[in-house]
Amino acid sequence: MDLIIQGLSKTYGNGVKALDNVSLTIPTGMFGLLGPNGAGKSTLMRILATLQEADAGTVKLGDIDVLNEKDKVRRVLGYLPQEFGVYPRVSAYEMLDHIALLKGVTNTGERKGLVEALLQKVNLWEQRKRRLSGFSGGMKQRFGIAQSLIGEPKLIIVDEPTAGLDPGERNRFYNLLTEIGENVVVILSTHIVQDVQELCNNMAIINKGKLLYAGAPNDALKGLAGKVWEKSIAKSELERFMASGTLISNKLVAGKPVIHVLGAQRPEEGFASVEPSLEDVFFSHIHGSTNAPVNA
Ligand code: ADP
Repeated sequence: MDLIIQGLSKTYGNGVKALDNVSLTIPTGMFGLLGPNGAGKSTLMRILATLQEADAGTVKLGDIDVLNEKDKVRRVLGYLPQEFGVYPRVSAYEMLDHIALLKGVTNTGERKGLVEALLQKVNLWEQRKRRLSGFSGGMKQRFGIAQSLIGEPKLIIVDEPTAGLDPGERNRFYNLLTEIGENVVVILSTHIVQDVQELCNNMAIINKGKLLYAGAPNDALKGLAGKVWEKSIAKSELERFMASGTLISNKLVAGKPVIHVLGAQRPEEGFASVEPSLEDVFFSHIHGSTNAPVNA
């Protein structure tokens, strides 16, 4: 069951065009929506999760008209927002039980089985009696996944899931996401390239409300093959490369800038051809769309 987005636009009251005529087909499996802060990711996620209205466009999930049949969407939706807001002073078990009840699992025995299985799945069984308000970032995210899985969703939306997690927590979260069924559309919205690299077989890049790329990460990498050049430069040279318009990224390695430049040929002496990374794909698109200097 594909999610088909056509001509989706949203302008806020202050005139910010958060989505500008976005058309995108999202197949089942793990899909990465990559974009810098302010790109329009959360706006898109909230519209798909029926929490916000679009100005124009259509969205279909199988037979469901997502923008107009909100109740139908909610029955098959699992949503993990960027922030839950206030974490209540109730235990993980009580909260999951409560959410399951709200989602219509009214049979007590069935609900007990479901809640226990979910707590095991996200590895929070030992912590089931602890208050959510005392959970670490990683535990909160795993709890978020557990609640989003109630009701066997067909569409799971995860907004900026790994922001603020330490590397260990991030790995545990990645492992958990990969266990979600193959027949589900899972959209992972993130500004972290590594999230997409590790998890997604399809992706899109958006910036300033516009779709810049849609396809498989591997195809995007192939498109850049032989065009990414690397050099370690002096800090004083940085400005010249920034002005050149071909700079993709600029990273400090042991205190010295190491830059990546896009070009069909070696830009100048001292540049070495490097294997493109997904980060190069991301920054070359973002850079191309803004022409602003980029700090990776
Ligand atoms: P992202 O999730 O990629 O960071 P958002 O969808 O949150 O992007 O924001 C896209 C743009 O819309 C940004 O310029 C943001 O400032 C603006 N924006 C987001 N929400 C609102 C709002 N409620 N009112 C006005 N502008 C908003």
